[in-house]
Amino acid sequence: MPRDRRSSNTPDDPPENTGGAATEPTAAEAGQRLTPFQAVNLQFERAAELLGIPEDVRIALKTPYREVMVELPLRCSDGEIRTFSGYRVQHDNSRGPMKGGLRYHPDVDLDEVRALASLMTWKTAVVGLPYGGAKGGINCDPHTMDPHDLEQLTRRFVGRIERFIGPQEDIPAPDVNTNPQVMAWIVDEYAKYHGYTPAVVTGKPVQLGGSLGRESATGRGLLFTAERAAADLGLELKGATVAVQGFGNVGSWAAQFFYEAGARVVAVSDVHGAVFAAEGLDIPRLLEAAAKSGRIPTGAGEETLTNDELLTLDVDILIPAALGNVLHLRNAPEVRAKLVVEGANHPTTPDADEVFRTRGITVLPDILANAGGVTVSYFEWVQNLQRFRWTADRVDTELRTTMNTAYDAVREIARQRSTDLRTAAFALAIERVAEATTLRGVS
Ligand code: GLU
Repeated sequence: MPRDRRSSNTPDDPPENTGGAATEPTAAEAGQRLTPFQAVNLQFERAAELLGIPEDVRIALKTPYREVMVELPLRCSDGEIRTFSGYRVQHDNSRGPMKGGLRYHPDVDLDEVRALASLMTWKTAVVGLPYGGAKGGINCDPHTMDPHDLEQLTRRFVGRIERFIGPQEDIPAPDVNTNPQVMAWIVDEYAKYHGYTPAVVTGKPVQLGGSLGRESATGRGLLFTAERAAADLGLELKGATVAVQGFGNVGSWAAQFFYEAGARVVAVSDVHGAVFAAEGLDIPRLLEAAAKSGRIPTGAGEETLTNDELLTLDVDILIPAALGNVLHLRNAPEVRAKLVVEGANHPTTPDADEVFRTRGITVLPDILANAGGVTVSYFEWVQNLQRFRWTADRVDTELRTTMNTAYDAVREIARQRSTDLRTAAFALAIERVAEATTLRGVS
């Protein structure tokens, strides 16, 4: 891959936007509604300021390496032609191949993908993986699509981006509404251009070279970091009350692991709403029912709440594990948790973050707390490259070591610099990326 940060493309490349110079939000904008990329960059700026990073270096670090946007027309099984937009934003590759998920959601747009790609750069750096950051997505709704159409759309997308991805270039993975089946289609389609290459994507089915423990990894990582943060706060996890927003791959596993650790999980939710039981929910029963019906069951004695009500419950630990921006200026003053564990990417807006700082609520930031997923993705990639398979125990042990090491390093910076965990995590990541960039040389 060319090393210059703004490489141009050959004329036959698909439409590609190489813009996206990272503009800094002004102070006035900061109080207003920020785009997701501006919000991430505000967090970046707080840490860059603390480190005294010069302005020219900041711009280089914030600006995406490459942004690919593709048109995806598809003749659907109902005979209609529908046109979707696909994105792959490659944010930084100074520390290794770029890495990050693929999101299928009607709200996917370039700015959001840019924000998520940059978060991946900082996330992989916080946990010390030899990767940069990327993210992709398609503005489709898999819940309303015919599965055959979804497969064709995925294959068409791979056809448009295959020249930009690869085991040493950029390695996609699951994200919101994508899963091992989607990754399997990617492996198969990529093979048509480059031969069978399982290391091109992670989060694959185990039968196709996926890693044991990958599906549960983000939830497990949330527990590992929360255990340490709770200990620092003098909060006993056993018996602590927990509310989890989101019952997808992250939220459902998190609910299970906190339940197994002896916490009282009093509320969980999906897109339809939340269920609440003060004495604690029977999480295994809910998981089993949700696996059958595709949603959290109601009517078995638990109270029902809205998703908004769940966020302001009187609990010790709040885990937003659905979409972004759910904790904002309007509800942040009402949040009663002592510890917020960010299972989702950017669930907290910068102004809500400020409210939490003032109110003494500890936030375990996304780029640390939910890094368990990409960490086991890294283990999967390593296993694929070595053509070797790790046991589930080995995956869990190595994941625990990685998460604990990262948490301890972030907490140390937070203590030394008297700052919050998010700013400390960004500071650790920025230092690592800046060092790699300088060592490789900017020409
Ligand atoms: N989508 C996940 C994340 O946001 C995992 C990415 C990966 O495994 O590459 O961290």
